[in-house]
Amino acid sequence: MFYLKTNERLLIRPRVNYEESFQSYLIGLARANGYKYSAFSSGITAKSKPHRSFKPEDRNDIQTLISKIADDNAGNLVDVWECGYYFKHLFDYSRIKACPKCYEKDMILPPYWWLKNYLVCGEHKLLLIDSCSQCNTKFEEGSFVKEHCLKCGLEITSNNSIEWNTGLLDQRLHDLCSDVTRDSNQFKELISEEIEQIYVHYQVCSYFLKELQSKDKYSNHRRTLDINTLNSEQNDIQRMIHDGKVSLLMYDALAAYRIKSGKRISSFITPIFKLLMSQHGSLYKAELINMLIEGPNDFGDWPVGLNWVEKLLSIKANDLKVFVKDHFPNIEAKCQGPFAVLIRDLNFLLSEYSKNSRDFKLP
Ligand SMILES: [Zn+2]
Ligand SMILES: [Zn+2]
Repeated sequence: MFYLKTNERLLIRPRVNYEESFQSYLIGLARANGYKYSAFSSGITAKSKPHRSFKPEDRNDIQTLISKIADDNAGNLVDVWECGYYFKHLFDYSRIKACPKCYEKDMILPPYWWLKNYLVCGEHKLLLIDSCSQCNTKFEEGSFVKEHCLKCGLEITSNNSIEWNTGLLDQRLHDLCSDVTRDSNQFKELISEEIEQIYVHYQVCSYFLKELQSKDKYSNHRRTLDINTLNSEQNDIQRMIHDGKVSLLMYDALAAYRIKSGKRISSFITPIFKLLMSQHGSLYKAELINMLIEGPNDFGDWPVGLNWVEKLLSIKANDLKVFVKDHFPNIEAKCQGPFAVLIRDLNFLLSEYSKNSRDFKLP
């Protein structure tokens, strides 16, 4: 049985490699000292905080413990579980992905390998692997401690991987994350800016595309899919973004939704509304507003709720509604639900409203 003692340093204390994640360092530490990963991680949990906790205080405790018993600098490595507290949506914690060729070189797992959209190695153009290519057993930390499959014994570096052209997203993530060695704070900064932006593009397009392909947009089945499948989904989306067909995609998705559901435009947009209103969603928000105001003829007789238009255009709640009720009461669309007008009337209404409002200008 393995016991971690906070006041005693481990016998073998490998130096940190600043390109690796904190998780990768833990794996190396267990390996160097001859521990099974499960024993090692329960030792951490017993002496400190739950090994897989996302909470910053817990992560800090664990990092402090490891810095004490191993390399002093361990706490400066990027801890992907800590990143998860703020950016859980950007990471895939259900698997450990690796490029066998990269791994062969340094025997480390860099933090960006955990990013959800990183599926093809930007350097070797190989699909990342998360399970043994011989027996299909999923990798876990213990596989990297042993450096081979825990079931059939195939070495990690001997795994076969599919050659694949890197997509836009993978290449961008690779270029952003791999060239410079970053400490935890720099990495978090990178995530909140560039990587969050990539994610918003991806999520919004993926949402539209799933509507067109009649796939379930809400299910969170990602963890059950293999990397090959995830990658082919991602490729479809990348192609859309790359070809600049985003507005066309949005238009087609809306049209499909309207025919299928008969519901208002807002019910379709609501699940991604926050993304559109975020800093990185402005492109899509602008497209949507443009579509509403320029009103493609096919959408002209589609009712749109005014309280939703207010939210989208950042108009004070009820201001536009009161204005319409006061000045153009006949324009109300005859439909069930909250006060709505037809999309074809929006342009007129908003330009009238902008004449009467100091704060609002027609976009
Ligand atoms: Zn590689
Ligand atoms: Zn195997």
